[in-house]
Amino acid sequence: MTSAGNVRIVDHPLVQHKLTLMRQKERSTNSFRELLGEISTLLAYEVTRDLPLVYQQIETPLATMRAPMLDGKKIVLVSILRAGSGMVDGMLRIVPSARVGHIGLYRDPETLGAVEYYFKMPHEMSDRDVIVVDPMIATGNSALAAVDRIKTAGPRSIKFVCILASPEGLANFHETHSDVPIFTAAIDERLDEHGYILPGLGDAGDRLFGTK
Ligand code: URA
Repeated sequence: MTSAGNVRIVDHPLVQHKLTLMRQKERSTNSFRELLGEISTLLAYEVTRDLPLVYQQIETPLATMRAPMLDGKKIVLVSILRAGSGMVDGMLRIVPSARVGHIGLYRDPETLGAVEYYFKMPHEMSDRDVIVVDPMIATGNSALAAVDRIKTAGPRSIKFVCILASPEGLANFHETHSDVPIFTAAIDERLDEHGYILPGLGDAGDRLFGTK
C-alpha cells in the first residue's frame, strides 16, 4: 500500500488485476458485480489493518496461551446509495459483525447541491467507527456531502473506501474533510466534462445493476 497525504492506494496485484477486469467495457454485469465484491473484500483487509487487538487467555488442544483477538471495535459500514451497495457484502465477508448504514443523496438539477433522500444509521454512533463505501470519487461532491451528514451523527472515526478516484475529487473532498483517510485501488487521470472519471470504468451503478 502506498500513501500520499491522507490517501492510501491499495496497489496489491490482486486488486489491480481485478480493477483492470472491471474497466473492460465488454465485461458482463454479473462479472462486474462479482469483481466489485472481491475487490471490496481485499480493500476491507487494508482498511481494517490498524484495528486494535487485545490478548486473551485461550486453550489450544495442547496448551494455554495468550492470543490476540479484535478489541470489540464497533464498525459501521455506510453505503452511499446506490453503487455503494455493491461493496457492502464483500466487506461483510471479513467483518461480519459490522453494522450497515445507508445514505441516499441526489443532485438538485437547479442548485447542483446534494439533497438527502435517505439516512439510516445504527443508534449510538459515538462509540462506532465508520467506513463509508462508494466505488467512485469523481467530483467528490457526493462523498463530501455524505461525510458532512455522517459527521452530524457523531461517530468516533470515519474512513472512506472507493475503488477509483479522480485527482480533482480527492482534492475537493480533502479540502473539507482532511481528517478522513481515503483508501482507493487507483487514482485515474482526470474528469471529463460530464464528471466521469477518465479512463475510468463508466457508470459504476449502471454497470453493477445492469441499468444501461
Ligand atoms: N460515477 C461513476 O459511476 N462513474 C464515473 O466515472 C463518475 C461518477
